[in-house]
Amino acid sequence: MTASISLFGSALAMTLIVGVRYLLTSGAFAWATQLHHPGLYAGQGRQIRREVLWSLASAAIYGVPAGIVAWGWQVHGWTRVYTDIGAYPLWYVPVSVCAYLLLHDSWFYWTHRWMHQPWLFRAAHAVHHESRPPTAWAAMSFHPWEAVTGAIVIPALVFIIPIHVAGLGLVLTIMTIMGVGNHMGWEMFPRWLVHGRLGKWLITATHHEKHHQAYRGNYGLYFRFWDRLCGTDIGLGNFPHQRPSGK
Ligand SMILES: [Zn+2]
Ligand SMILES: [Zn+2]
Repeated sequence: MTASISLFGSALAMTLIVGVRYLLTSGAFAWATQLHHPGLYAGQGRQIRREVLWSLASAAIYGVPAGIVAWGWQVHGWTRVYTDIGAYPLWYVPVSVCAYLLLHDSWFYWTHRWMHQPWLFRAAHAVHHESRPPTAWAAMSFHPWEAVTGAIVIPALVFIIPIHVAGLGLVLTIMTIMGVGNHMGWEMFPRWLVHGRLGKWLITATHHEKHHQAYRGNYGLYFRFWDRLCGTDIGLGNFPHQRPSGK
């Protein structure tokens, strides 16, 4: 009985953490948007309210597998998350973080590309594309079916690939910041990065905005590997309000 209560408590706590993390991150980026590009979201109040509601519903869905895993880790020692930094060589910490990002990106690419099949698009992915153009609040604006595909990937990986708890925190932080940043309607990274050699492999807002403009292509999350390999990379988008000579 105690165990079942703490399992419920863990899922509830994770839902609250994911929801508050979303509100704080999206709120901070929306505030930065107002500072750098005043009025960019003007007239999008209705859309933003919808984005927040879908995102909070997604937070509840993300909280369930995360809560089960956190409870299993604490109570039963499940998962391969470790806290003793000496348990693996130090070089393994960045390697495991990169492995998580690459695997998450691969999962996202293929499920996202799959959800662009017309019948699945209507059933699961149209909600995300109703944001035209997306705002900083759209990062978790998913239909529940799509939220499930996103919610299970990290909780599954922690059973397979050992990762230090701080490395896992870093993965979740990158996931949150890039998820919000890629939808906020302007580019936060410097031009030399986005349009330079690194930008050919990394996904930032300029790349994902093009996905939202074209409704096809540019399916990746962090990296352009899969899109380039599979011929679905449609290049970088543009932000009419941002001068090309920007930072
Ligand atoms: Zn899409
Ligand atoms: Zn998107």
